[in-house]
Amino acid sequence: MAKERRKAVLELLQRPGNARCADCGAPDPDWASYTLGVFICLSCSGIHRNIPHVSKVKSVRLDTWEDVQVEFMASRGNAIARATFESRVPPFYYRPSASDCQLLREQWIRAKYERQEFAHPERQEPYSAGYREGFLWKRGRDNGQFLSRKFVLTEREGALKYFNRSDAKEPKAVMKIEHLNATFQPAKIGHPHGLQVTYLKDNSTRNIFVYHEDGKEMVDWFNALRAARFHYLQVAFPGASDADLVPKLSRNYLQEGYMEKTGPKQTEGFRKRWFTMDDRRLMYFKDPLAGAAAPCSTPVPPRTPSPAGKSSSAAERAATRCWPGSRRPPRATTGHTGSPLSRQSAGFCWPARRSRSSGRGWRRSGRWWTGPCCPKSTQWKPTSSTSPSTRRSRRPEDSGLPRRGCRRPRLTGPELQP
Ligand SMILES: [Zn+2]
Repeated sequence: MAKERRKAVLELLQRPGNARCADCGAPDPDWASYTLGVFICLSCSGIHRNIPHVSKVKSVRLDTWEDVQVEFMASRGNAIARATFESRVPPFYYRPSASDCQLLREQWIRAKYERQEFAHPERQEPYSAGYREGFLWKRGRDNGQFLSRKFVLTEREGALKYFNRSDAKEPKAVMKIEHLNATFQPAKIGHPHGLQVTYLKDNSTRNIFVYHEDGKEMVDWFNALRAARFHYLQVAFPGASDADLVPKLSRNYLQEGYMEKTGPKQTEGFRKRWFTMDDRRLMYFKDPLAGAAAPCSTPVPPRTPSPAGKSSSAAERAATRCWPGSRRPPRATTGHTGSPLSRQSAGFCWPARRSRSSGRGWRRSGRWWTGPCCPKSTQWKPTSSTSPSTRRSRRPEDSGLPRRGCRRPRLTGPELQP
């Protein structure tokens, strides 16, 4: 009898909607919440265990099921639960996937089932109001200590500000929503709620690292930032649909890790630097928690085609135009690396097109080369007969040209984002 009941539950997994975890979308869930009537993955079942007053879980394959539980699961399922608990999810609200950090997945599950924020829109005020004020722990630039700082997010001004003193009139920094990105980086920051906020100051990329002890508060801040970006893009590009704008609200980095790079002179040795691949840009920093990016010139792969049509391209411009490197310099065919404006504004980064005539390497300034960002090569390999020293570029890394005799770059850092 117990076998039959288990078999009946297993058959429910074949129903539409039940083949993926109700919370993170992971395939082939084999756990279930028999009080909520959803099928979930092992990882999410661990989070459900932490809210026993709302959810009780069982293994589909290992546990014993009772008739009433099987009947309840049959009457519910992931599709019905989604219609119930996710009926009013704001378009900007971040829906985590299986690869996202524990904090995002936990708060998504708690918001859905415990607080029922998406069935009661009035509970979404902390991230929907267009204004948010509070204290976050911010990592200091000099000594790396985290200090309590007052933050104010105001959509009306299109900015996130922070103040060194709670009674200060002038903010220490004003981060324009237009240029801002936020991504959770618990491993790098060393705190499970650690958030990296990136913005532009004087045309260079700056980072701040913050956290809040309360996970809900931290995720509310994150979604408030996404809401502000969403409303900014809606105003800037009224023709764009929500589906066009949502992917532009925040980005996880494609890859991060240590590599060794040489200095401007041939005599200088290689130094370990922290590299970050963000969208189409490769930046490097003195260390993973550095406040400002150093200029770099490594081209990165071309942008993947936008899934949306014309309106999407407008949205894409909105999301990228203000970032360093989004503009390709005009015709860099001589020793120059682009116009002074582009060099100055872009932090020496811009996308390069992949050659169609050659399967290997990247071309810029009429020369071929391969670099660590080339998926087919991890070794610097100049293929041009032109000596980099003949170029008028001030620094070799500004020119983007590799040099002979370079050591193979090593990628030793953790890959924080798959
Ligand atoms: Zn899951």
